[in-house]
Amino acid sequence: MTTSTSPTSSSSPLAERLAAVRAGIDDAARAAGRSPDELTTIVVTKFHPASLVRELASLGVRDVGENRHQEAQEKAAELADLDLAWHFVGQLQSKKARQVRRYASVIHSIDRFSLVDALRSDEGEIDAFVQLNLTDDPGRGGVADRDLEPLVEHVLTTPGLRLLGVMAVAPLDEEPARAFERVRASSERVRALAPAASAISAGMSQDYREAVAAGATHLRIGTAITGNRPTLR
Ligand SMILES: *Cc1c(COP(=O)(O)O)cnc(C)c1O
Repeated sequence: MTTSTSPTSSSSPLAERLAAVRAGIDDAARAAGRSPDELTTIVVTKFHPASLVRELASLGVRDVGENRHQEAQEKAAELADLDLAWHFVGQLQSKKARQVRRYASVIHSIDRFSLVDALRSDEGEIDAFVQLNLTDDPGRGGVADRDLEPLVEHVLTTPGLRLLGVMAVAPLDEEPARAFERVRASSERVRALAPAASAISAGMSQDYREAVAAGATHLRIGTAITGNRPTLR
């Protein structure tokens, strides 16, 4: 896994940030009376080059997150020699859905019937989260609260998708702990329909501790590990 261009020394800034976040997650888990083993940390590498993902892989990272199809597809192809699991965490156009299936292991952003239909497949299952919209703004992505059960039922009856649970982004104008309590309540509604779909994808660089306290199982952490993102291309 080591390459000549990937520093593996534990003293690289990336390695130090990764170690610090891992320690923070372990602390948050213990404070919540949970085992760190219950948590999957996805490093969100959007806008960063494939070389950074390669360095992360050399540091033991296996789960990486991306939010734009074209960028994700290019990096997954360039890094096909690595044993990485690609998590698609961004808003997804239905016409791109089948292409995302080819390289992604998990799609976190299922938020409408048409996207579920576009992901239907009789050739194997892909793991999926239903994304909740915790705001009143439909542009933020995610399913509105009142539409949660119908969407979950549709996922459950569509071949090719295995529902893991719910995903959410805490709104900027709400205490993360409060937002994540709402996520936990929605997760219970989903589990009433699909007991195995108990996972919760929540928690980013600024709020992962609150997410762990509220029961998150999948953390999506970008800048706290990668450093600031290069500006939008
Ligand atoms: C970018 C992104 C993250 C990571 O955000 P940070 O604040 O950099 O940790 C997590 N989830 C989604 C959906 C994202 O788009």
